Amino acid sequence: MSKVKKKVKVIKIDLDKCNGCRACELICSAFHATPKYSSNNPARSRIRLIFEPLKDVYLPVYAGEYAAAECMGRDKYLIDGKEYDECDFCRASCPSRELFKEPDSGLPLKCDMCEDDPPQKEPLCVQWCINDALTYEEREEEVEEEVKLEDVETGLESMVDKYGLQKVVDTVARMSKKG
Ligand code: SF4
Ligand code: SF4
Repeated sequence: MSKVKKKVKVIKIDLDKCNGCRACELICSAFHATPKYSSNNPARSRIRLIFEPLKDVYLPVYAGEYAAAECMGRDKYLIDGKEYDECDFCRASCPSRELFKEPDSGLPLKCDMCEDDPPQKEPLCVQWCINDALTYEEREEEVEEEVKLEDVETGLESMVDKYGLQKVVDTVARMSKKG
């Protein structure tokens, strides 16, 4: 596979500055609503807050790749005297939890860094985090050229995992006849 230069977008998370306000969840779900900003629902957000106020745990996590199977093992992390489950840090939309799934359809959600036309100056969750717990950076890296799956392909992959290829094909054929 050949190497290409790529602009890598990075959001740094400073756990000490997050106070659990959840403004990031609110703006992300509103930005991705159809039509844009017509509603907000944290369950549809591509950033979710893992929080346990009694233990002073506030951990914003970004939705990453779709995973068809859950992992078999779990680790525990002890950081600055606070205990975290391995799943707390995991970005996958996977069968073991409800996180990062569109609540009505169950389709996987993934952070797209607020791709927009014209582009946003910074991802919206960063702009809305008034505590500066989230900060945005861009850097250039040499990476292996990869085939990027579109949202619709990821969604189809998860439907095929759930219902089987034949059922998905039959349903699409039936719908196209109706349309
Ligand atoms: S907006 Fe910032 S401070 Fe508020 S929950 Fe999100 S990351 Fe934490
Ligand atoms: S970068 Fe945009 S898409 Fe990603 S979590 Fe933040 S608001 Fe949502």
